[in-house]
Amino acid sequence: MRLNGKKALVTGALRGIGKTIADLFIAEGAQVWGLDYKTPDDLDARKEAAGGKLHWIQLDLSVLSSIDEAIEKSIKEADCFDIVVNNAGITKDNLSFRMSLEEWQKVIDINLSAAFFVARSAAKDMIRKRSGSIINMASVVGIHGNGGQANYSASKAGLIAVTKSLASEVASRGVRVNAIAPGYIESDMTAAVPEEARKKMTESIPMKRTGKQEDVARAVLFFASDDSTYVTGQVLPVDGGMFF
Ligand code: NAD
Repeated sequence: MRLNGKKALVTGALRGIGKTIADLFIAEGAQVWGLDYKTPDDLDARKEAAGGKLHWIQLDLSVLSSIDEAIEKSIKEADCFDIVVNNAGITKDNLSFRMSLEEWQKVIDINLSAAFFVARSAAKDMIRKRSGSIINMASVVGIHGNGGQANYSASKAGLIAVTKSLASEVASRGVRVNAIAPGYIESDMTAAVPEEARKKMTESIPMKRTGKQEDVARAVLFFASDDSTYVTGQVLPVDGGMFF
């Protein structure tokens, strides 16, 4: 029960890594506000399974102008979040010379700009309480780049820069900001990768397996909990040794 009594906001909690993080946080004793552009069809069942510890915020993070107000409203409801996980993210892959303005802009808006505005709103309030942990979901491609993903890689590189910049602005006020850089994790996002490419990718990973959502969630838990009280501005790769 490493998060007993804590209140956490997790974006992109509808499915995938975000849902796994929300489930783990609840199992560790936290109350979780899940945020996504839509409400899950099975929300009532999820709430029941969570024993009243799950709340829901429906918000499309691509509408950047709505974020400040929505987050401030949910902060009031929660009476300050102790933990914020900026997990929501999308891909719109294309080769650079074919990439449309829409493919570029949407990925930057959701993965980078929305995460910045969520983190900023939450940090403002955490400073008041002199404590809090913000965790941003970056990616190994935000460090190393990836052909066909200039937009996505740039958004994640930007998120790493936001992590370090914000961390230095709020460190003296008791607020920590860190990032996770997952490698190849099994989820809806990677489900479209053709079998042949998946095999090749798995072969290239030193641990010879793709990542599970739980692998990422447990690393997020480290940054969210008191296990990392003296750690800020860091980027933790969770990639099976893909990049040493
Ligand atoms: P996913 O597509 O399964 O989940 C993404 C979540 O974000 C979904 O719940 C989706 O509804 C939500 N979301 C998307 N657009 C939104 C919007 N406009 N407003 C609100 N919510 C929105 O993907 P995942 O694999 O679970 O990825 C989670 C995070 O991990 C993402 O930031 C992704 O970039 C990052 N990541 C994933 C991998 C991987 O291999 N799966 C690797 C590195 C980083």
